[in-house]
Amino acid sequence: MIYYGKQSISEDDISAVVDVLRSELITQGPVAYRFEKAMCDYTGALHSIACSSGTAALHVACLSLGVGAGDIVWTSPNSFVASANCALYCGAEVDFVDIDLETLNISVPLLREKLERAYINNTLPKVLIIVHFAGSPCDMASIKLLADHYNIFVIEDACHALGASYREEKVGSCQYSDITVFSFHPVKSITSGEGGMLMSNNDDMVRKARMLCNQGITRDSSRMLAKNEDEYFYEQHVLGFNYRLTDLQAALGLSQLRRLDQFIEKRQAIAAYYYAQLNDLGFEYQQLLPEAQSAHHLHVIKLTETHIPYKRKIYKEMKLKGVVLNCHYIPIHLQPFFKARGFMEGDYPNAEKYYRRALSLPIYPDLSESELSLVVNELSKCVKVLKNI
Ligand SMILES: *Cc1c(COP(=O)(O)O)cnc(C)c1O
Repeated sequence: MIYYGKQSISEDDISAVVDVLRSELITQGPVAYRFEKAMCDYTGALHSIACSSGTAALHVACLSLGVGAGDIVWTSPNSFVASANCALYCGAEVDFVDIDLETLNISVPLLREKLERAYINNTLPKVLIIVHFAGSPCDMASIKLLADHYNIFVIEDACHALGASYREEKVGSCQYSDITVFSFHPVKSITSGEGGMLMSNNDDMVRKARMLCNQGITRDSSRMLAKNEDEYFYEQHVLGFNYRLTDLQAALGLSQLRRLDQFIEKRQAIAAYYYAQLNDLGFEYQQLLPEAQSAHHLHVIKLTETHIPYKRKIYKEMKLKGVVLNCHYIPIHLQPFFKARGFMEGDYPNAEKYYRRALSLPIYPDLSESELSLVVNELSKCVKVLKNI
């Protein structure tokens, strides 16, 4: 079976993990710090914290910006539920801003309107969580201007976008945000099994976030309340978690990072192949901003109006041929959990409209030429048959 995403593991990756297994420390230690440093070097951010998952990184990102009860956080409905759940973990309320039907990212005009209304009603959000859907960067310059105008923090949920660039800089540089979060789940640009990373240029936030990942404990004597010289001494200052990435995982992530640019090139080549080969089927695609380069995390197609009723059939036919398509995303607000919190069908019509048309094709570095041509041939056959219905 061919799925929409999959890890690519080399012999070097395997020996990097085995080396850690043979070392003194298998939980967080020097390899995690090396991975953090390497992610700073890659993205240009000043600081980073390795976390146990992207979701954990989003949670501590919200907490280190002071998100709590009484606060509101806005994100995109066209994302994975983790983009919204992180605000709820903190006791805050979550709300959404509808997407642009071309970029499939948060719509800047709709964001501007919603901010104007929220300002008047005194319901401004504390944080915007900006999702670079499918690895395609959002209009961060415009978003940053709006956020600064209203004094709102920005977190980039860049779980799809490690390796993407915006205005000559890598996503993760935090030039237009307070914090950027990555995930190293196996379907993402690189993997550590499970894992994530929080990037920031703000010392203070990073110090808070690091404590939160480690039970709220500090071992830095200059920050302690008690005067105590004992080396084993530590102090807990806030309620934190165990969100540490292990050295076993970090070794895999660090080894994979060396191949990140290669991975992105391969993804780009696959996307180009699909565009060329599926040209006559009438699909529409996500539009990329001219000042951006995508990480090609997903290759989403938008079915034509006439094909929408056959989406389920296309999925089933393709599965019979060994290709398991996917759909990104069921709008978050349509999940039963979010409906129970008051959201309704029709709240974010663009995200809903896109969802009806959306299918994700397989895209990952190890996809072979024969697998690719299988996908293209079967999908072409399937869609051409439907044209005659
Ligand atoms: C994968 C993903 C996450 C969560 O990452 P995990 O590492 O699986 O916790 C969050 N947001 C988006 C948009 C994602 O795709």
